[in-house]
Amino acid sequence: MCAIVGVYGDENASQIAYYALFAMQHRGQESSGISSADGKRIHLIKKRGLVTEVFKQDDLDLLSGSCAIGHNRYSTAGKDSVLDAQPVFAKYKLGAISIAHNGNLTNKYEVRDELIEKGAIFQTEMDTENIVHLIAKSAKSKLKARIKDMLSKIEGAYCLVIQSRSKMFVVRDRFGIRPLSLGKLKSGGYIVASETCAFDLVGAEFVRDVEPGEMLIFEENKEPKSVMIFEADYHPCAFEYIYFARPDSIIDGKTVYNMRLEMGKQLAKETPAKIDLVLPVPDSGVAAAKGYADGMGVPFEMGIVRNHYVGRTFIEPSQEIRDLKVKLKLSPIKDMIKGKRVAIVDDSLVRGTTSKQIVRMLKDAGAVEVHMRIASPEIKFPCRYGIDTATKTELISSYKTPEEIAEYIEADSLGFLSIDGLKASLGDDREYSLVSFDGKYFAGGNENSPGCSAY
Ligand code: AMP
Repeated sequence: MCAIVGVYGDENASQIAYYALFAMQHRGQESSGISSADGKRIHLIKKRGLVTEVFKQDDLDLLSGSCAIGHNRYSTAGKDSVLDAQPVFAKYKLGAISIAHNGNLTNKYEVRDELIEKGAIFQTEMDTENIVHLIAKSAKSKLKARIKDMLSKIEGAYCLVIQSRSKMFVVRDRFGIRPLSLGKLKSGGYIVASETCAFDLVGAEFVRDVEPGEMLIFEENKEPKSVMIFEADYHPCAFEYIYFARPDSIIDGKTVYNMRLEMGKQLAKETPAKIDLVLPVPDSGVAAAKGYADGMGVPFEMGIVRNHYVGRTFIEPSQEIRDLKVKLKLSPIKDMIKGKRVAIVDDSLVRGTTSKQIVRMLKDAGAVEVHMRIASPEIKFPCRYGIDTATKTELISSYKTPEEIAEYIEADSLGFLSIDGLKASLGDDREYSLVSFDGKYFAGGNENSPGCSAY
């Protein structure tokens, strides 16, 4: 999770970064930050809260310069310190740098222990601090060479935007696990962002995705320079398509909404049900439910209304609050549901909390049968590449069969999309990262690697 943005070569860089972060608010709601560079200095503002709460016009005025980088941080249980907000700023031998990171480093503790052994001190739990130290401690004379040095020592999933007082460096890991795209601004400047929905808001034109293993270097009065640091071994994260990304974003050439429709259609082929009506869990299940209804030839209705003023259910760490929040957030249209056999479609099932509450809600509303359909496979493994699934014990599918889960959530039936069905929906032109479903850690690390601290 988390969103990053980098703007280069535009007088209004911090304004543009602000709007881009606003468009990518869904990727992280805990804290937000922007740092700008004016050739002489780096200015930084970061706080806890939503983008609109963190920045006021006066702040953006202070963030002067034609380069700005920004970050939205995803919330994790128990770690909500403002120290964990990004970008991370530091002064070192070559001057000053600021870094924003999306992803999760799997060798965080090995690197950190080695650095501490040599006298480094850390202020936070974030793996992004490792990156700062590795750059600062490198013996190379130029920043570009120091970044390369640092990249040779880190493992896992990362998209990085690194700002000096006059340049900007952008890197995507060689597996391309998290998304990152390049756009051109009307002013002639450039923008990189985790999702293309940011480009739409600021009127930028999509240029291309940043290649896995690529570094882009932005310098004054020059076109961006591309350097391949690693050979690409492309494994984009399937969960971006399933849940994380906004449906209007285009990730690596594929519109997220269309992928979700396909998953729903495939789900209809694999787990049909005798039903009168298909309902989505709003908003996460909408596109997949439409696909399921199309595939089944059954009416699709927005039969559950969502209160948009409640945050995502995962934001609150404790179980009691999560339970209450589902009720606060969702409410059924009773007339539509009474006496019907309904299928209710969500994008994923993690702990089973949402499904259990919704099945009960639909039965209370008078549904005669409730068939739960999940447009992704069973989540059996914690993912250490940037998805917030902390331990195996939290993942209901790691210890219960679909039949047992159906019983637990009190549904008349429960169906998941198969792993092959997911692959078929996404297309066989590339091999996706499916760690949550198959437990395969191809980019280093394993399920015992450190969890996400920065996302
Ligand atoms: P649960 O209620 O624990 O089974 O979680 C499933 C719900 O959480 C679904 O509605 C998903 O849309 C949503 N979800 C899945 N993965 C995540 C995540 N990493 N962060 C926040 N919400 C998620």
